[in-house]
Amino acid sequence: MGLARSAIRVGQRAAVVEARQDWNKGTLRMQRALRVDENKRRTKGEQKMRLTKIESRAKLVREKLGLEGIDQIVFSALRDRLAERQPNLHLKKTLADDMPNEQDEAYYDENSQTIFVSDVVWNRAENGDGDAMFVIAHELGHAYLDHTGIRKRNSISYSRYSLKNRTLEDEADEFASHFLVPTNRALIAPNSEYIRSRFGVSSLQSEIAWKRIKLAKFDLAGTQRPLPRNVINFREAVERQRDN
Ligand SMILES: [Zn+2]
Repeated sequence: MGLARSAIRVGQRAAVVEARQDWNKGTLRMQRALRVDENKRRTKGEQKMRLTKIESRAKLVREKLGLEGIDQIVFSALRDRLAERQPNLHLKKTLADDMPNEQDEAYYDENSQTIFVSDVVWNRAENGDGDAMFVIAHELGHAYLDHTGIRKRNSISYSRYSLKNRTLEDEADEFASHFLVPTNRALIAPNSEYIRSRFGVSSLQSEIAWKRIKLAKFDLAGTQRPLPRNVINFREAVERQRDN
């Protein structure tokens, strides 16, 4: 074999090896991309399952407390029903000075099954303040979603939470939203203002709930909307032709 020829061979082999490596890299990249996609899909599916679980839990708690037939949950009703029907879960008004941190609004202690509410938040909730009710409903979420340990809520801590803690906090928020504004009771709402006045939630919470209600209305419309009259039903048209 001449030198020139073997040089070509070496060159060809190198090109083949390079092409194969490129191909492998491409395959790897593709596999990785697919895996990422799969993960995303799984996370979305899981997210949906989680939300469904939280929504049904919120509904169940309303039922347990005999509050399923009303729109706005006022604080005195929640306090009395909890004492009557859920004697193992305690709601305790606590002086701000006696809270772990002065800025804590409320916290749930799993060990004593107690929701400690700062007197400031308690009094505001008694006066019908939507934000204060949300804080209490949020702690109720921790209790009924079986979150363990001590769950504190204050105005400054969220950004310092770890990812896992943020998830638990988000879940408790989600619970509170569904508990205070059940989707099925709010489907007739034409806007967020209606939700705010009918369910007694803050304007921020009414906006958040309204987004969810709009989606639920859209889903419902999608599954129940009949075919418009001017749309040809092809299957029927074909059958009619065959009969003729
Ligand atoms: Zn919390």
